[in-house]
Amino acid sequence: MSRNPQSSLHALLADRVFDGERFHEGAAVLVADRRIRGVVPVGEVPPDAAPVRLPAGALLAPGFIDLQVNGGGGVLLNDAPTPEGMRAIARSHRRFGTTGCLPTLITDTRTTIARAIAAAQTACGRDGVLGLHLEGPFINPARTGVHRPDLVTRPEEADIDLLHGLAAAGHSLVTLAPECVPAGFVRRLTSAGIRVAAGHSEATVADMAHAVAEGLTGVTHLFNAMPPLAGRAPGIVGATLAEPRLIAGLIVDGIHVDPVSVRAAFAAKGAAGLALVTDAMPTVGSEVTSFALMGRRVTLAQGRLTVEDGTLGGAHLDMASAVRNAATLAGVPLGDALRAASLTPACFLGLEHERGALRAGAIADLVALSPSLEVIATWIAGVAEWAGREP
Ligand code: ZN
Repeated sequence: MSRNPQSSLHALLADRVFDGERFHEGAAVLVADRRIRGVVPVGEVPPDAAPVRLPAGALLAPGFIDLQVNGGGGVLLNDAPTPEGMRAIARSHRRFGTTGCLPTLITDTRTTIARAIAAAQTACGRDGVLGLHLEGPFINPARTGVHRPDLVTRPEEADIDLLHGLAAAGHSLVTLAPECVPAGFVRRLTSAGIRVAAGHSEATVADMAHAVAEGLTGVTHLFNAMPPLAGRAPGIVGATLAEPRLIAGLIVDGIHVDPVSVRAAFAAKGAAGLALVTDAMPTVGSEVTSFALMGRRVTLAQGRLTVEDGTLGGAHLDMASAVRNAATLAGVPLGDALRAASLTPACFLGLEHERGALRAGAIADLVALSPSLEVIATWIAGVAEWAGREP
């Protein structure tokens, strides 16, 4: 029996199936020709479907979609802004349930940005690379985090042409500080089909309202690299929590955001308004414990990545752990955590008919999780990669 249900009809049988919005007990996901045919009760599996029975207690869910992944498997996109670099990063996250991602370039030179955009134009659609996320360089100099301050800049007219290359690079995203770009800049990106998120920013509620009017739809790593919410100064956090049109990324590693803040964000926005992201660095999926990030040494200790002055340098986090942390550390209902890891980021990218949910016609990107939410297997377009031994 084939373990890779690429063409003929297969039925993946699991004790629980989460279809992107709700759970089904004792169900089967039907897969053929790289796509999902549907979710049916185990008793209604067509007789011609080849069964693949998952281990007892397994949960089958849509594959995770990570909107912010700087690296993995020892590779950092800023050091390898090539199609091979992007694909290697995407592949390194597969064993953690990620079936689609935006490799992310933090603030760098325009030359490197141009290389990354060209790379994304080639790599998109391969190995789960969905697009490129450019985080910077048009961010607030007061909120750089580990971004190199000397490379943070204001956009020039030629930058529009540079960034418009993203329109041919899958479903790509630019993170910028709305208060640091001229009026109309966000509109010129979004009207070309490029997603724009606010981040590394001190945007006011008015700044955010103008940016949303120009098509801004996202907020990058909510709570991090932005001022806190205050009663009379709601700022970017308040604007995000109050605006249902905005989808916010959230780093749920137990370090970047307090679990209570995670729970508060879910209470305010619901799972349809939050996307779990990893902000992952090269240490994820590798033995690497230290690496150079734009000239600074980042060291991994007790799950925390920091530079010399203690500033967080990205996260040592994978998507399965983010889901587990949301559920166990923050007490978010599992279905909400799974939705924030799949359907919500798919919606953000405009891919909800193809990805993020187990609906008929969608690409067969799936993850099987154990009762303790460890990854058992990941399928990309119906092709399985087992994390451990096959059942
Ligand atoms: Zn950042």
